[in-house]
Amino acid sequence: MSEKKGIVVNGLILRIADCRENDRMLTVLTDELGKISVLAKGIKSLRNKNRSACQMFTYSELILNERDGFYTLSEAAINRSFASLSEDIEASALACYVSEAVDFVCMDGVPEEEILRLALNVLYMLSEKKTDFYLIKTVFELRLALCLGILPDFSCCTVCGKRPDTLYFSETGESVLCLDCLSQTSNESTVCLTGTSLDFLRYEAACPQKKIFSFACEPGDEVGRLSEKHLTYSLSRRFRTLDFYYEITKLGKSIAEKK
Ligand SMILES: [Zn+2]
Repeated sequence: MSEKKGIVVNGLILRIADCRENDRMLTVLTDELGKISVLAKGIKSLRNKNRSACQMFTYSELILNERDGFYTLSEAAINRSFASLSEDIEASALACYVSEAVDFVCMDGVPEEEILRLALNVLYMLSEKKTDFYLIKTVFELRLALCLGILPDFSCCTVCGKRPDTLYFSETGESVLCLDCLSQTSNESTVCLTGTSLDFLRYEAACPQKKIFSFACEPGDEVGRLSEKHLTYSLSRRFRTLDFYYEITKLGKSIAEKK
């Protein structure tokens, strides 16, 4: 981009909605302005020079004009494209889930630098296809809950402070309990966490953002169920894209079984 007239931001495209004949309304999580809506005029035209930088799963530099709190796109250039995700339907379904969840938790105009970095990190891992997708999803859910301040640190029992080898966690609650404290509660169902699963949770609840995929051990399946249930319960939201992801994986399994 030659001369930069307007507001320059870097942003991840989270949602695209068609409006009028050739225009689109983009929902973008930007570095400096937080989540904003941007009107991209003429973007549906194949000849539009900004078109490729305004696709889903793309992190772009955007030059915006602002008037009365409304943003319109002037120019766009790709910083990093994860558009190759759409070549793999399972990765693409999870990338849609990441976009929907991030869109849901971010409020308009509030900078969310950690969440933006998390989303970029997760999209990168999905595009690399080197790590199990379900594990990437688990890390995303745990770290999003951490960014939102709703993830316990799993280091010790929330009530008595003991640090046993086994802790119990209610997916619909906020506390982790040791067996003694658990036996004193009138009890809802809990997940028993021990061994590598507990190590993994302690790691994800404490490691720096750039190390979220550097865990030493993989958790049991219960951690993936826990992260999903805890996040969706805490947000009181069942994500449409998550249902779609499960339809895709179910379909994939049934095709594999028929082979
Ligand atoms: Zn306790």
